[in-house]
Amino acid sequence: MIKKYDVAIVGGGIAGASLLYVLARYTNIGHIVLVEKNDSFGSVNTHPHMNSQTLHTGDIETNYTFEKSKSVKEATDLLITYLEKYVSHDAYDKNSKMVIGVGTKEVSELEDRFREFSLLYPYLQKIDKEGIAKIEPNILNERDMDEEIIALSTIGYTVDFQQVAQSLIQEALKTGKVSIEKNSEIIDIEGEKGNFYLSMTQGEVRAKTVAVMTGPHSLLFAKQMGYGKHLGLLPVAGNFYFSKKKNVLNGKVYTVQNKKLPFAAVHGDNEIHDKGVIRFGPTAKVLPMLERGNYESVLEFLKTSVWSLKGIWSLLRIISDRTLFLFVLKNMLYDLPVVGKYFFLQQVRKIVPSMKYSDIYFAKGMGGIRPQIVNTETGNLEMGEAEIVGNGIIFNITPSPGASVCLKNAHIDAERLVSFLGDSFVFNIDEWNEEFKKENVLV
Ligand SMILES: Cc1cc2nc3c(=O)[nH]c(=O)nc-3n(C[C@H](O)[C@H](O)[C@H](O)COP(=O)(O)OP(=O)(O)OC[C@H]3O[C@@H](n4cnc5c(N)ncnc54)[C@H](O)[C@@H]3O)c2cc1C
Repeated sequence: MIKKYDVAIVGGGIAGASLLYVLARYTNIGHIVLVEKNDSFGSVNTHPHMNSQTLHTGDIETNYTFEKSKSVKEATDLLITYLEKYVSHDAYDKNSKMVIGVGTKEVSELEDRFREFSLLYPYLQKIDKEGIAKIEPNILNERDMDEEIIALSTIGYTVDFQQVAQSLIQEALKTGKVSIEKNSEIIDIEGEKGNFYLSMTQGEVRAKTVAVMTGPHSLLFAKQMGYGKHLGLLPVAGNFYFSKKKNVLNGKVYTVQNKKLPFAAVHGDNEIHDKGVIRFGPTAKVLPMLERGNYESVLEFLKTSVWSLKGIWSLLRIISDRTLFLFVLKNMLYDLPVVGKYFFLQQVRKIVPSMKYSDIYFAKGMGGIRPQIVNTETGNLEMGEAEIVGNGIIFNITPSPGASVCLKNAHIDAERLVSFLGDSFVFNIDEWNEEFKKENVLV
């Protein structure tokens, strides 16, 4: 007998794990299955080698608008509460973080930002050279002392999101409502609300509703089912470099980012499991694959509509923007043999001016794929959340900073799934509000 579940979640990264937890803990849904193709959870973009391990709260991410920061903060407050209550302390760290503004233009941008954003982040501090020297002396070491510099600084979280995903799954299992299928790749999804058939490499799963939480692969599933026809995918990989010297930074140091770009500018971060080891990056280069290092996913990428006439038109339109064109070009330079490292070093020197060519080395095998959505009708890059809602099924593509906002997204998706299932199912909002009370948030 093939068991029929109320909800099937495909993908056990942080997005799928969060949804599993929220459904199991805060709804009366009784039968939920999580299907993951690998033998461990969070082993793709959620793995600490694949992302920057940063809880992006929106205070030092200068490419976020006030509205975006407000929404991100609401989301990260939820995750902070969860971390402090349920996650083992070796999975996260609290340390200094700052964004530096160098030169008149950036300094004035940070001054303006501070005036506006300190309403949202009252603990954020504006610090001058003296303040920076106390926290991150290497930012000033060998820097031209006539150069203007300020920073917005506070305490931030470094997180192993894979461990968080595993914790969320463990907590969900405690409810007794959850089944797990590991080493099970979903090949095909058919059906509609009330009756979905999910074919796996071995066997089949049936469910009344489905949440496809497979990162960039979600768009492929959506297209196979006739959804998201106007969307294409631009997979943007990120590479990193390590510093050979330890402790060149004490915490996270970000730089001012152009608001037109969807990612944080190159930053320096302490490794969560290797304190004192500093990783700089990520770069942003378009790679024709949906999963880093998985060459079968090249074919899957080709099935997304970027290579249609409209897709190519959209890409040309996007790239014709001067800022984006220069950004793509600069990132292509980083890939050149020998000189690529020299060009990247210039970004690192914005943070630590004393770094030399021989002081950094390429972080081999690190850096995942950020699925950037292209709207092939409008020819625009979609900057916000990417989710397609179908008939009894949702497809979550989770662009950056998807790991930081996982619980807020999971809440939204859980409410949607509850409504798909009908009136006898409810989301227990009182229990949710009690669990995630604001006073639990420490920073
Ligand atoms: C370079 C880089 C830096 C980043 N830095 C940050 C950061 O500092 N902070 C932050 O918040 N976010 C960051 N992000 C974004 C963050 O990593 C992602 O948003 C997040 O990990 C996405 O989680 P996910 O669960 O959607 O995807 P994934 O972690 O990729 O999980 C998808 C899961 O689906 C499974 N799967 C795929 N296909 C199938 C199938 N057919 N059947 C069954 N299972 C399947 C996969 O095996 C995988 O386990 C960064 C991303 C990159 C690339």
